[in-house]
Amino acid sequence: MKSLLGHMLWPALTRFVSDQTIGGNVGLIYTFHYVGVPVIPGVCQDLFLEPSSFSNVLDFVCRHMAPLEPADFLDRLEAGTLPPRAIMLTFDDGTRDAYTHALPELEKRGLKACFFVCPGLIEQRRNIPCLELMDICAGAAAGHHRIALEVRTALEMETLPLEIVIGDDASRKAAYHLLWPHVYRSVSSHHAALFASLRMQMKVLPGTPSYPLATWEQLDEMHRRGMWIANHTMSHSTRFADPPKRFAEEVAQAFETLDRRYPAPRRLFCYPYGSSRDVSSETSRLLEGLNTNVAFLTQGGSARPRRDGMLGLHREDATYSVGAAKLAPLLALAR
Ligand SMILES: [Zn+2]
Repeated sequence: MKSLLGHMLWPALTRFVSDQTIGGNVGLIYTFHYVGVPVIPGVCQDLFLEPSSFSNVLDFVCRHMAPLEPADFLDRLEAGTLPPRAIMLTFDDGTRDAYTHALPELEKRGLKACFFVCPGLIEQRRNIPCLELMDICAGAAAGHHRIALEVRTALEMETLPLEIVIGDDASRKAAYHLLWPHVYRSVSSHHAALFASLRMQMKVLPGTPSYPLATWEQLDEMHRRGMWIANHTMSHSTRFADPPKRFAEEVAQAFETLDRRYPAPRRLFCYPYGSSRDVSSETSRLLEGLNTNVAFLTQGGSARPRRDGMLGLHREDATYSVGAAKLAPLLALAR
């Protein structure tokens, strides 16, 4: 639907509207996640963009928008001097495809982007929680699993008896949707144990992750080539699940690691998930206390510091297809 509308409305309406409204102190920030096919068909499809669609989106950006490198975009956004159709590119989670697929495609077009990574997960050779759960559901043995799911939240610990039947893709998708809300509400310090227990109970054979995280060496190279590497918490933590102290430590430790490795004039932070449940005046104060200069959300809309401050910049998803990317400038204005 997004894709069809995007094609229909571009360039007649969208191009005209973006010329009038994007620029000055209003910018457009695109969010990308993973370049590749979904781990399980129908699960979080909006996070995956096939390589050919990814190339088409970047071509669209180069031909019709005004892509700026992160430092330039943010300086001019703050100063209110963005050119019409100004756009910044961001990638969440720092998976290896960012290095193998996104980096060469960006470089081919002379584009620079910002990549948000989780230093704690890289160091522990773990993965982003949703990807880890997708791999578990994709790799679970066929059959009927009676599992005891141990959930730990900031307030309580409970063990839930669950019945999960694994067979075709639809059943793996159902398993993901059944388990995900419990992973999301679990404190981040419990994720490793939770996944280990699920792997055992669902008889998942050890294997390579579908979307492993980029290594430090790969991120170093991306940084050398002019990409920005920035803070996405140590272990993809949220204030929704973690107590304030833990969330603050997650942000602070990631800054410490990244400041040392990739010194930059600004401290950039991107909220994991970044939905309205994860973002509040409390988290803004906490980020301010950690000298954060810019924070990015995952809620759609244009980036308007006059409305939201520099610690609440909205972004639009550039996923699904080039049609959706074309629609983004128009959608951004509506929210
Ligand atoms: Zn993320």
